[in-house]
Amino acid sequence: MAMYVVGHKIPDSDSICGAIALAYLKNQIGEEAIPTRLGEVSPETQFILDRFGFEAPELKMSYAGEDVYIVDHTEKTQAPDDIDQARVVGVVDHHKLGDLTTSTPLECWIRPVGCSNTIIKMMYDFYNVEIPKGIAGLMMCAILSDTVIFKSPTCTTADIKCVEALAEIAGIDDAKELGMEMFKVKSAVEGTPARDLVMRDFKDFNMNGNLVGIGQLEVIDLAVFDDIKADLEADIAKLKEEGNRHSVLLLLTDIMKEGSQMLIASDDEGLVAKAYGAEISDSKVWLDGVLSRKKQVVPPLQEAFAG
Ligand code: MG
Ligand code: MG
Ligand code: MG
Repeated sequence: MAMYVVGHKIPDSDSICGAIALAYLKNQIGEEAIPTRLGEVSPETQFILDRFGFEAPELKMSYAGEDVYIVDHTEKTQAPDDIDQARVVGVVDHHKLGDLTTSTPLECWIRPVGCSNTIIKMMYDFYNVEIPKGIAGLMMCAILSDTVIFKSPTCTTADIKCVEALAEIAGIDDAKELGMEMFKVKSAVEGTPARDLVMRDFKDFNMNGNLVGIGQLEVIDLAVFDDIKADLEADIAKLKEEGNRHSVLLLLTDIMKEGSQMLIASDDEGLVAKAYGAEISDSKVWLDGVLSRKKQVVPPLQEAFAG
């Protein structure tokens, strides 16, 4: 029985490129695998797929009765809705351990590095499988995206070394330059409806029984939001009500200034202020040096919710 390899809901480049790269590896070692995705491909990911000549994995939302290899998450809120009726055969991830559990033993590749694709490269090395040129390109771009071209505090030496090795295989002379091209694609927000932008890289978390949604938009210059910020603020307030969420936070991340403006829609703004030790004004706050949702935004909030 073939396994499906799938990343998280609202897939990012790590989830899509990781599913393709891991499925290829599994097939090479005699385990039949099919890459799939849980949502639309982002403009950044489409740019990467086009650049290296790949099609997006097939869209598949239901996995009941199937074998599934999970990529880039272990949170049930980010997994397929019917994951409880599937058999999770493996996990490759670089986030905090979530609430996904299994009923059978599983293969587990979890490391505190900047990107799931860095771990997938370790898997290729472990099984001694050669990485094809195009797949090396996909993996390299996923790492550049997740580590914000090495600027994120989540970035490790392993990620940098991995990009160097993959660039060599893919025949890319200047990986960082390709990374900047990707972030330029990401920064083209003009003309996109507010809801689409809020949902582009959005994750729900269960924080002490409260549903909290956190979105992030990483751009080269926050000025791209000048004309649409009010729409974004109105939309996160709406999204909070629609989803019965305690809070919806939207991080507008300036990758050049290396910080994020957080837009806040919350039942308890004081709790958000406490989490970040910051003064919120007009439901907004600038968080200097904050680039990483998983390392700098989720943990303090989780702690604040725990009391
Ligand atoms: Mg991800
Ligand atoms: Mg990732
Ligand atoms: Mg990210």
